[in-house]
Amino acid sequence: MKPEYQQYLNLAESRKKENKKLLQKLKKLKSKELDSLINDLHVEAFELIDCLECANCCSSISPSVKDNDIQKIAKTLRIKPSAVVNKYMYLDDEQDYVMNCSPCPFLMADNYCEIYDSRPLACKGYPHTDRNKMNQILDLTLKNTLICPAVCFIFEELKK
Ligand code: SF4
Ligand code: SF4
Repeated sequence: MKPEYQQYLNLAESRKKENKKLLQKLKKLKSKELDSLINDLHVEAFELIDCLECANCCSSISPSVKDNDIQKIAKTLRIKPSAVVNKYMYLDDEQDYVMNCSPCPFLMADNYCEIYDSRPLACKGYPHTDRNKMNQILDLTLKNTLICPAVCFIFEELKK
């Protein structure tokens, strides 16, 4: 990971309490106002941050993989859906399929995704800061400040 991206993560780690307080303020905003603030900062964040120089999400957390995702991955890999599950996944405590190793088995050495066009929906949406109804996932977004430099950036900008 680029050193400056790691610095964002370090900042989020050291500002956990401050970010938790910010979260409480954000929870008081009207839903549309909150979406607009975060969605605009998402665009700014990804003008600065290049996922190919990071890959921290793919290296450290697993997406939840749904049946539709498994079908698509199987088609891409030209193997049966059951083989995708057996080879790459396990059922977690919440009965969701997740990747069976970390970094993700599909993350390549150059940080590209081996199954990019058929990657799970959860990967496509990560870090989920360009969606509506951000108020429904604020707690998750706070956790993501520790994983995704773009989310750290968004939190720091929200304080201004
Ligand atoms: S499937 Fe691709 S995008 Fe999703 S975690 Fe694995 S490497 Fe990353
Ligand atoms: S989404 Fe965030 S954590 Fe994942 S590669 Fe991009 S900047 Fe890094």
